[in-house]
Amino acid sequence: MNLILLGPPGAGKGTQGHHLSETYGIPEISTGDILRAAVREGTPLGREARGYMDRGALVPDEVIIGIVKERLAQDDTKGGFILDGFPRTVDQAEALAQLTRQEKRPIEHVISIEVPQAELLQRLAGRRQVEGRDDDTEEAVRHRLEVYQRSTAPLIAYYQQQGLLRCILGVGTVEEIFQRITAIL
Ligand code: AMP
Repeated sequence: MNLILLGPPGAGKGTQGHHLSETYGIPEISTGDILRAAVREGTPLGREARGYMDRGALVPDEVIIGIVKERLAQDDTKGGFILDGFPRTVDQAEALAQLTRQEKRPIEHVISIEVPQAELLQRLAGRRQVEGRDDDTEEAVRHRLEVYQRSTAPLIAYYQQQGLLRCILGVGTVEEIFQRITAIL
């Protein structure tokens, strides 16, 4: 099963991605997690990405596409994968489509997790206190939500046109939301 989790920051993509990964035994690929690990380790990728991430801006497409290509070349993805936080732009989606077409491993489901803006702001403020993520400052959060609206929300129409999109409400308990997703899969 090749799956994309779509949704704004704070929608719960990471939580659901984890849960799905354990249930279906396929890896969750989070570009945010990969970048945060690179920042922690101080690799060249981490040094390049850090400034964008701290501001809540997107890391350039070519960098991200390179990361995902490399990750999808690994054997553990052959039986399926869950993408969390990628694609985030139409160019990224086109690059993914090209790759998956070439390799005959098409995306089968795109699940958009929808959460009202007021609830997102509340969740992200809570996460700032609990996780202390550098990009969960108030200004970076606001910028990430704007970037989502401008660059990522167009992917909803993009995948709808391809007949791949299913929307679910991302409000409720983790288990309730998980049930909504698995009902679709
Ligand atoms: P996330 O954990 O998915 O919210 O990602 C944290 C940050 O990593 C984002 O605010 C971006 O700076 C960067 N990032 C993660 N995924 C992508 C992507 N697909 N394209 C561009 N930047 C990304």
